[in-house]
Amino acid sequence: MSNRPIYLDNNATTPMDERVLAEMIPYFTEHFGNPASINHVYGWEAEAAVKKARETLANAINAIPEEIILTSGATESDNLALKGVAEAYFNKGRHLISVVSEHNAVLDPLHYLENLGFELTLLPVQSDGLIDLNVLENAIRPDTILVSIMAANNEIGVLQPLAEIGELCRDRNIFFHTDAAQALGKIPLDVEEMNIDLMSLTAHKIYGPKGIGALYVRRRNPRVKLAPQLHGGGHERGMRSGTLYTPQIVGFGEAVKLALKEMKTETERLTKLRQQLWEKLTTLGDIYLNGHPTQRLAGNLNISVAGVDGQALLLGLQPVMAVSSGSACTSTKIEPSHVLAALGRSDGLAYASIRFGIGRFNTSDEIDQVAEHTISTIQSLRKVQQSKSFASNLA
Ligand SMILES: *Cc1c(COP(=O)(O)O)cnc(C)c1O
Repeated sequence: MSNRPIYLDNNATTPMDERVLAEMIPYFTEHFGNPASINHVYGWEAEAAVKKARETLANAINAIPEEIILTSGATESDNLALKGVAEAYFNKGRHLISVVSEHNAVLDPLHYLENLGFELTLLPVQSDGLIDLNVLENAIRPDTILVSIMAANNEIGVLQPLAEIGELCRDRNIFFHTDAAQALGKIPLDVEEMNIDLMSLTAHKIYGPKGIGALYVRRRNPRVKLAPQLHGGGHERGMRSGTLYTPQIVGFGEAVKLALKEMKTETERLTKLRQQLWEKLTTLGDIYLNGHPTQRLAGNLNISVAGVDGQALLLGLQPVMAVSSGSACTSTKIEPSHVLAALGRSDGLAYASIRFGIGRFNTSDEIDQVAEHTISTIQSLRKVQQSKSFASNLA
């Protein structure tokens, strides 16, 4: 274990907190009952645990427990929200609005709906990654039924103005969905104050288990109708059939509880670590920050590096740190990230990008090691690049 690279990819997933695991373990073995079994104590124990976790989740976002639908993660929640609303309200309107820099778990269901006959407007973002509220307002049409805008971006960490978007949508009777997979437990989320109607959540970005998430669906005023996408035993008020995964649900509740309790101190600590890394890296020059400098997740630092080859950069960093690059491999070729392209970054700079995702278990010492190795890697790659161009000038 000790020789593995430093884990700095906490926007992709997080290690599970030992305290979360400890809460989960009895529900795999001793308390294994089906929460839907109403005739015996095995079922009651499991049901009580699910109830408690559901309350924790609801309280975390100022919702009520009846508004929480447990799912397998944010991907499923996004699909249920978007397809569920589209199917339930297509007689009211067929226009949907979202943003170019959304996660594929939002973009792909929206394109699927587009193929079914819905109309989709994808808003651009500004060079800092934030949407322009005037552009959103102008995109709204009489037949718009849903606006879907993420809370925090998974690549560049920027925080969209949820309360302003929510107010705009509420005034016009349009539902507002937000993918808050990256935001839960990291920034305050309040579905009342922010006028949010649907919100996708997941546990594995906040030191909880993978394979569990939730969709908040407003039941108070206005009440959102959803067409279920999984039919079966009628669990989750008929919105999502399937036996509840008690250990994961218990873990989700505990992960949320811990994240909320530690949010303030952890935000301060991560902000310091991010600044420590950024200040060291900028001594190199020709390093660019992707995303708004302050309207962002505390632990996310995404940079583009001029004068180096992106692939070589990642290979050079790999022995020391686990980070993500600014490109995604599709089956046939390497493409620059759609998020960095949306900021207006050139292909070259988008390829030579690194996402540092600093998390709960990273230390200041690790950040120093990461900064040092990143700097020396970039310096030597730039030397190679310079001698290459020197050689081609001579030729
Ligand atoms: C991680 C992530 C998802 C996918 O969540 P899963 O629980 O892994 O399905 C969706 N949206 C965003 C913004 C994410 O960061």
